[in-house]
Amino acid sequence: MNPKKFGVIGHPIAHSLSKPMHEAVFKELNLPHTYDAIDVKPEDLKDFIKSNPYDGLNVTIPHKVEVMKHLDEIKNEAKQIQAVNTIKYIRHHDTPNTDTPKAIGHNTDATGFQNSLKEENINLENKNALVIGAGGVSRAILISLKNNNANITLTNRTKQKAINLNQQLNINAKIIDYEQLITNNQLPETDIIVNTTSIGMHPNTEHSPIPKKLLKPNHIIFDAVYNPLKTKLIKDAEAIGCKTISGVNMLVHQGAESLRIWLGIEPPIQAMKDEVLKHLIN
Ligand code: NAP
Repeated sequence: MNPKKFGVIGHPIAHSLSKPMHEAVFKELNLPHTYDAIDVKPEDLKDFIKSNPYDGLNVTIPHKVEVMKHLDEIKNEAKQIQAVNTIKYIRHHDTPNTDTPKAIGHNTDATGFQNSLKEENINLENKNALVIGAGGVSRAILISLKNNNANITLTNRTKQKAINLNQQLNINAKIIDYEQLITNNQLPETDIIVNTTSIGMHPNTEHSPIPKKLLKPNHIIFDAVYNPLKTKLIKDAEAIGCKTISGVNMLVHQGAESLRIWLGIEPPIQAMKDEVLKHLIN
């Protein structure tokens, strides 16, 4: 088998977990492929993408939106999310070194979210989802919820951002005020609470986006934050008996989907998870 070259681009990139996670897959499956973490400055992005030195790339902050300008094709879900996190370079097999490959943009974050719920047998159809946060990761999660016919309520510290995102993504969400939400005595009727804010992320691990007293045992809690593995939100929810899902699962499943796109393989999810957990605070 010919070794293929993969990598992740971002700026900065030093703390990315993608490299160890993908290397663990290649080791587990005995594949000769390599995976680099590449620091690409914004002013170098176009030249880097056009130089096509890789068979596939993951794309992270700050390039997920800007990179779209430099691709030959963008898949529908990435268009909906308006961001790309995976690029596949397509070359003709007969002239691998001479032709110009086509760069195809995908977004695997929505599938990553969806598969991390599917793993727990959670079906989003007609569920009431309360999404907190309107930043980068929120976009993919909102599109996944929309595409799975969930009813979305969206709240964000900066309310105007939630209003804008609702319009941009065309998700028909109900927007509620964050300050009011967390000072009320109860939540609107909710099946699944999704934290997409960075609240609770290392080193501010004593914070949660939602007071414990608002959680009920029937709520399913998804926290996009994966470092630490058990955020305050997850700990609070576990203490009252909620089903909880850590952001680690989304991280692993978005990586797994990239591998399916690049190589058509079924990735070893547990080996990926085990590798990521080695790098996280518990
Ligand atoms: P981002 O674009 O910077 O968005 C941050 C969000 O958090 C915004 O909605 C912001 O509200 C809110 N926020 C931040 N501090 C807050 C506070 N003190 N109180 C209330 N709201 C606050 O970040 P992102 O890229 O979406 O990442 C968010 C988190 O998800 C990070 O922890 C990141 O590591 C994690 N993540 C996980 C995955 C995964 O696969 N599991 C993937 C990507 C990211 P404002 O709009 O008011 O500023």
